[in-house]
Amino acid sequence: MSDDKPEVERFNDDNIFQEFDLPFKTAVQPQQLALDSKISFKCYKGISCFNACCSNIDITMTPYDVLRLARHFDIPTWQAQLKYTRPYEMDFHGMPGIKMRPVDEGAACQFMTEAGCSVYEDRPTACRYYPYGTMGMRRKDSGVMEDVYFVVKEDHCKGHEEDNEMTVAEFRQQQGVEIYDDMNRDWLDIIIKKRSSGPTVGAPSQRSMQLFSQSYDLDGFRLFTQSDGFVKMFDLDDEQRKAIDENDEELVRFCMRFLKQVLFGEQTIPMKDGAVKARYEQRKDVIQKKHQENVEKYSLRDPAAGGEESS
Ligand code: SF4
Ligand code: SF4
Repeated sequence: MSDDKPEVERFNDDNIFQEFDLPFKTAVQPQQLALDSKISFKCYKGISCFNACCSNIDITMTPYDVLRLARHFDIPTWQAQLKYTRPYEMDFHGMPGIKMRPVDEGAACQFMTEAGCSVYEDRPTACRYYPYGTMGMRRKDSGVMEDVYFVVKEDHCKGHEEDNEMTVAEFRQQQGVEIYDDMNRDWLDIIIKKRSSGPTVGAPSQRSMQLFSQSYDLDGFRLFTQSDGFVKMFDLDDEQRKAIDENDEELVRFCMRFLKQVLFGEQTIPMKDGAVKARYEQRKDVIQKKHQENVEKYSLRDPAAGGEESS
């Protein structure tokens, strides 16, 4: 496959989805698209299917989606998570995900009204994209993330029958998804990395799952960065500190950097001199207990104990 071809031709050459390590499987067979692919679609109040897509929802939420809903209702993110989402497991390792919570005893979105979406300006990523979607994906032999777009054609959606041609790029702009994609990219990258590390280095630890869950409660994460333990450990300059305290988008970016640092050792947040040693001394008993549990769990030889290595 030549990379010199226009993106749309390159995508149409073959089924690009087979080359990617997909973060999840979808029941609907997607049709691959590039930014310059032409699509024809129109959604408007008065179309025969109006609200059909919001009447039976299955919407995966990102941390930024929760943050936007929280800001819409002027409530903390933990409360938005509790009220408007429900937990689910993203994969067989139990990677913690959240979905939009529908109305009680029904499948419709709790924000659907006769006039349309009541949180339109802060609606989640998946709603903005529908009936299109995007995935940040890495080819199996590459470390580089690429944005891939797809269309999901469902019978109930009559917008596909409308004569309204545009490119995927124009559609994205109309729907205001750029900031959402920007905010979601690192989070998706973490999911893919976590998922692909499973078979080689074992299932993600309970601790790493808890840390990942923290990303949905960004106000809680902001408080955590202001805690004594965090301040003693990490060396942030005044500008970075102010950005995290006052700017939600910087908070999201910093949260993802933090997760990549603690989950994958990608050191981008400077640590204070002696902080790691001091932290180890403080948690020595817990760490040693955990180590001993692992030794017993996996029947490994403890080098400190001497004797023959078990086969
Ligand atoms: S948030 Fe709005 S657009 Fe999304 S499913 Fe609910 S009503 Fe529909
Ligand atoms: S089903 Fe399609 S056309 Fe109908 S309201 Fe939903 S997105 Fe618009």
